[in-house]
Amino acid sequence: MTIIDIITKKKNKQELSYEEIKYAIDGYLSGNIKDYQMSSLLMAIVINGMTKEETFNLTDIMLNSGEKINLKDLQPVVDKHSTGGVGDKTTLILAPLVASCGVNIAKMSGKGLGFTGGTIDKLESIPGFNTSIDIKKFKEQVKNINIAIVGQMGNLVPADKKLYALRDVTGTVESIPLIASSIMSKKLASGASTIVIDVKVGSGALMKTEKEAKTLAKLLVEIGKQYNRKVVCFITDMEEPLGYAIGNSLEVLESINTLIGKGPKDLTYLVLNLATYLVGMAKNIPLEKANKEVVENLYNGNAYKKFQELIKSQNGDLRKIKISKKVISIKSNHQGYIKSINAQALGEIARILGAGRLNKEDNIDYEVGIVLNKKVGDYVRKEDELLKLYINKTSVKEEYLLNCFQITREKQEPTKIIKTIIN
Ligand code: URA
Repeated sequence: MTIIDIITKKKNKQELSYEEIKYAIDGYLSGNIKDYQMSSLLMAIVINGMTKEETFNLTDIMLNSGEKINLKDLQPVVDKHSTGGVGDKTTLILAPLVASCGVNIAKMSGKGLGFTGGTIDKLESIPGFNTSIDIKKFKEQVKNINIAIVGQMGNLVPADKKLYALRDVTGTVESIPLIASSIMSKKLASGASTIVIDVKVGSGALMKTEKEAKTLAKLLVEIGKQYNRKVVCFITDMEEPLGYAIGNSLEVLESINTLIGKGPKDLTYLVLNLATYLVGMAKNIPLEKANKEVVENLYNGNAYKKFQELIKSQNGDLRKIKISKKVISIKSNHQGYIKSINAQALGEIARILGAGRLNKEDNIDYEVGIVLNKKVGDYVRKEDELLKLYINKTSVKEEYLLNCFQITREKQEPTKIIKTIIN
């Protein structure tokens, strides 16, 4: 067998065997198969797809490419994943909320990618917060306070790490089988028994249509079943940013507001629904009962107390969070109803301000970002504030920001955040 035979087979739309996929992945990890050969195979997969069998096999091979975390003595343990969005601070609220209901959540999160933010960057905007505790402490903390959130640790799924970096720079990210195997190999290696995945759809997401998002969601659920994991996928909107805040410290502050019951409607609604499924599945109780528990814990202060425990346990100091004092107000030059707010463009602008990275090595400016003052469906008059810009070193032209808003005369409905639930 040679890598050229394997590439040729996929180029000719033939199904690859377990051994062939393993040969390609192992060879790539060991360095025998070169970047240009793997890029060629990945592009053949992007164009010709993979059968379910091939996708299951690829997931299994990636999963077994490195260490796995054993959480047997802590089960049931839940986990959550988002395919990435703008203003998506869901984990910061969901994780303590679920833990405050007595459910263990062991969460490994990532840094921002492209125009989308990452949970780890948001947590690191809290001075002192340690996102790199070791596996032993991670497990101990989950045992003691039901919750830990850390960055990538150990040698988990090295195949995904190497492949993802290559996909990022070869135009081969957008492939359902590649995305499904990448997500599920990491989730399976992290050891949780119950997983909720927020599959974002829209201009600010990897999945641009609901049809694509559903195909991906069904595949994620099926892969989970193969490993006896309960997986539920929420397909949710990413046409407009989630909540009002975009940017690290600003998103932490919005998360705190949401944890004390004063958060934006769309964010609160999404968090309550995701938490209901996680608590219901972990405790094996009806969703109505889980929902009651979750709502109670959000509004009686328990979720916020759990958040404070998490921050303290990982050495963060909430009193020291800083946001920039240089604030610019952007006002509407039209009157009417907001029809759309371009999530991807605002994500890119936040990145230019310094809230995200342009290169992997860049440092983030935690203090900058955007806070919207309006959402889709709202009415604006001329001179009403559309958003506030928190800046430090870099700013952007006002017209770029105004171009992110579409304003019409016709009344517009607010965005429906949850489109479908697949399990
Ligand atoms: N998120 C992942 O973890 N992997 C992908 O391929 C895409 C989104």
